[in-house]
Amino acid sequence: MSWDKKLLATAQTAAELPGLIDRLFEQQLRNWQTLAEGEASLAGIKSKTLSTDNARIVVQANPGRRKSTHAKVDRLSVAKRPCFLCPANMPAEERGIGFEEFVILPNPYPVLKRHCTIPARQHSPQRLDNRIAAMLRLARAVGHEMLVFYNGPRCGASAPDHFHFQACRRDAIGLLEQLDLDALQDQKFPLTSFGRRMIIFNNREIKKAQDNIADALAALASTGADDLEPLINVLALFWNERYLTVLFPRAKHRPKCFFAEDDSQIAISPAALEMAGILVVAEPDHFDRLDQATARSIYEEVTIDRDRFSKLTEVVT
Ligand SMILES: [Zn+2]
Repeated sequence: MSWDKKLLATAQTAAELPGLIDRLFEQQLRNWQTLAEGEASLAGIKSKTLSTDNARIVVQANPGRRKSTHAKVDRLSVAKRPCFLCPANMPAEERGIGFEEFVILPNPYPVLKRHCTIPARQHSPQRLDNRIAAMLRLARAVGHEMLVFYNGPRCGASAPDHFHFQACRRDAIGLLEQLDLDALQDQKFPLTSFGRRMIIFNNREIKKAQDNIADALAALASTGADDLEPLINVLALFWNERYLTVLFPRAKHRPKCFFAEDDSQIAISPAALEMAGILVVAEPDHFDRLDQATARSIYEEVTIDRDRFSKLTEVVT
C-alpha cells in the first residue's frame, strides 16, 4: 500500500502545517476510536511533580505506554514483526498529513497532548545525521506551541528500522520553563540538571543550528566504541525566530531498575520526553517507587558520564 490512501492532506507550505494538524486531530478523534480513548485517558492520568533547584520533573503513570516502554528493539525482534510505521500495516482508520518526505500521524498512546509520530515515507533505518536540517524545518513548521523530538535507535525509538521523529505540545515540559526561552540569545552551553547532562544550542540561522548538532554527533561518535550512531535524544523548538535544540548524550537506554524482578522494578524506558522532564511509568503499581532520589539516580545512570561530557563540552561549546 502506498501513502496516498493514508493522507488526509499534504502541506504545500510550512505555514499551513499547524492548521492541517488541527484538522487531522479533529478528523481522527471523530473516526478513530483508539485515538479518542488515548487522548481521553490523558485527563485521568495520575501524576506528581518532583522539584529541586530550578528543575521540575513530572512523573506520570501511563499504562497506555506499556507497549512502547517494553518494546523489544533488538535486531531479531524488529526483523520478525511487521513495521507499524509502514502504511500497509497501519490501522484502517489512521490518517496523516504529508510534509516534505514525512507523514505526520496522531499517536494513539500519547504522553502529552497532540502527540504525533512522524515517519519518513520510506522504510529506512533510524539515523539522524542526514536529517538534521529536516528536523529543524519541521520544528519551525509545526509552530511554537509544539516541540519536535528524536530518539536514537538505541535510545528509546520503538521502530529503529523505520526513520521517525515525534512531536507534541510543549507547555507541560519543565525543562523549557527552566531554560527561560525569552532570555536566550545566539549561544551554546552545557547544562547539568537533576542528574541529566545536556548541551543547548540556540541559533537564528538554520545552517548554524544544523552544524552545531552535526559537530556534536561527530564528537560523540569519535569516542564511541562502534560506528553506529551515538546514543542520543534531541529536542528542537522554533522560538523567538530562533532554533532551540537540546542534545542529550546518553550512556545507556534502560536503567537497571527496568530489568529488576523484585519490588525495586520500575517500568521506565527513558527517551527524549523523559530526559526533558516527563518520566513515564508504564505500570501504575510502580508509581510510588519513583521518588526524587530514585528519579535522579535513574537520570545519572542513563546520562553520559562526567568525563565524556567535559570532553564533548570542550569540543562543541
Ligand atoms: Zn516501515
